[in-house]
Amino acid sequence: MILNIQKMVETAPALKIAIDGPAGAGKSTVARLAAKKLGYLYLDTGAMYRAATVLALRKGLSMEEPEEIAQAVAHAKIDLVHETGADGSPLLKVFLDGEDITFEIRSREVSLLVSPLSTIGPVRDSLVEQQRRLSEEGGVVLDGRDIGTVVLPNAEVKVFLTASAAERAKRRMKDFETRGENVSFDTVLKEIVERDKRDSTREIAPLKKAADAHEVVTDGMTVTEVVEKILEFCSHARAHERSRRELI
Ligand code: C5P
Repeated sequence: MILNIQKMVETAPALKIAIDGPAGAGKSTVARLAAKKLGYLYLDTGAMYRAATVLALRKGLSMEEPEEIAQAVAHAKIDLVHETGADGSPLLKVFLDGEDITFEIRSREVSLLVSPLSTIGPVRDSLVEQQRRLSEEGGVVLDGRDIGTVVLPNAEVKVFLTASAAERAKRRMKDFETRGENVSFDTVLKEIVERDKRDSTREIAPLKKAADAHEVVTDGMTVTEVVEKILEFCSHARAHERSRRELI
């Protein structure tokens, strides 16, 4: 896979920030805002797995054809393009071989298939390679499931973002409603619990809190509060890094 990512702002070499957690914990919203505040590059790794899922669907490949899917992913071109919305909020657009698939990657169909697809080892290998390449110089915020444990085990800031399953299902239901997809609360809750179970129990790179990650439970917290917490962790990490350098 060739992954191109267009930077929203010039990034300065700085911290690597890993944000992991289960579905619907609000990772991408806070990761995007934190990156904007810091002038860092934001990489939504879930969007990469979702784009790979759209690709498999377009090619008519079933999840029982892992080698064919891995081949298709290796040859695809995915672009993540940062834009600013009319209200000034940061937006991430996803393109597959030049076609805008931003809306499609969030469909319920893709949400149901992305988890099985992400258990395919060679698919993960090619996406993780791109994620590491883009993070080499620091000044990045990555969100996903395996960032603090596998992709960037040396990240200076690791956050494990979570919330109760009911809270997460409520947030996901709102997303589906906005898209015009009508699904009951019980169905969304069941699908979220199943996806988390699959993501946490898979053999390769399961969803897991890194030993050195800060856990943030976001029930009852506003987006701004969560972003501020992450920025606080960054200030501590910078201070720690400075004193470490002074000691050398
Ligand atoms: O974060 P999001 O819900 O968009 O991720 C979709 C799916 O992609 C996850 O449920 C998981 O199966 C997969 N994923 C992954 N590793 C990542 C990011 C996402 O396996 N780093």
